[in-house]
Amino acid sequence: MSKRDFYEVLGVSRDASERDIKKAYKRLAMKYHPDKNPGDESATDKFKEVKLAYEILTDDQKRAAYDQYGHAAFEQGGMGGGGFGGGSADFSDIFGDVFGDIFGGGRRGGGAQRAQRGADLRYNMELSLEEAVRGITREIDVPTYVSCDPCGGSGAKAGSSPQTCGTCHGQGQVQMRQGFFAVQQTCPTCHGRGKIIKDPCDSCHGQGRVQKTKTLSVKIPAGVDTGDRIRLTGEGEAGEFGAPAGDLYVQVHVRDHHIFTRDANNLYCEVPVSFTMAALGGEVEVPTLDGRVSLKVPSETQTGRMFRMRGKGVQSVRGGGVGDLICKLVVETPVNLSSKQKELLKEFEESLGGSAAKKHKPKSEGFFDGVKKFFDDLTS
Ligand SMILES: [Zn+2]
Ligand SMILES: [Zn+2]
Repeated sequence: MSKRDFYEVLGVSRDASERDIKKAYKRLAMKYHPDKNPGDESATDKFKEVKLAYEILTDDQKRAAYDQYGHAAFEQGGMGGGGFGGGSADFSDIFGDVFGDIFGGGRRGGGAQRAQRGADLRYNMELSLEEAVRGITREIDVPTYVSCDPCGGSGAKAGSSPQTCGTCHGQGQVQMRQGFFAVQQTCPTCHGRGKIIKDPCDSCHGQGRVQKTKTLSVKIPAGVDTGDRIRLTGEGEAGEFGAPAGDLYVQVHVRDHHIFTRDANNLYCEVPVSFTMAALGGEVEVPTLDGRVSLKVPSETQTGRMFRMRGKGVQSVRGGGVGDLICKLVVETPVNLSSKQKELLKEFEESLGGSAAKKHKPKSEGFFDGVKKFFDDLTS
């Protein structure tokens, strides 16, 4: 392992706070984590380097020693002759923080044993708005690993069983000295498993699991929305050698609806009305997810006015109340008019003219006054 300056490794200044160090560590640990860089040796080395720098700089005593003596502080005999083994106690906690968001928080622990638990899986499910609001049970096919039947997941041929590894005595890790440091390494004999299979199962070739597409019936609760995630514990990939399975996450995506837009528990829709109805008032049919309802349009309704229909929205999947349906009335300009209709409209418009015009046009007056003021201000 290289002996780069620990502050340099983490990219922080020498007077960095513990919080800054933690932050830098999280970022770099994410970047170089072996799970994210499979087969990349240099990433693994960087990960170890970052981890070591973090461990030393977040321990007040070790940091002080490092500040004073540099790497020499940790030579044998320097700090009580110990050197630093891997797997510090707080490592897994940090890990949970860093990877919780990505893997759903189910993963804990560090080192080679991590690989044994089956991977978490994600299934993207598209739903219509109606399905999301009412809930649905749907069958899905998931290509995954399942535990091998003939060997019961052990990987050893029926009648035999895996044996404890003699090199690491079942620990999966061995301690190696590398210069100043005692480093915990994955056991080269059993590759971290702690067990050796002398007589592998024919069906899974000693892996304890086989590839299979399984069909699952997934119950989507009513009220889910895009971004919601349903966790099916233990339905991810089976672990190797009988280790626990990962989880399956069903990621919900709700398709756009041709009428409704959803925002949290409220639904929005636009309802066109003729300008005659907007002026005189009347009733218009409004769609809801439960069918049509009638909405009373008051006379002299302006375009864009919103009407709230209580309880016609969505019942949240997280409990609490039901949202509302909010209808926006949009006054429709008539098109494809006959010459007769055009005449009538002209006649109508003329009837609004003269000194009384303003009282029929509630918005115009304020608007044109505003426009005039705007240009006056510009030229003055
Ligand atoms: Zn071993
Ligand atoms: Zn098997």
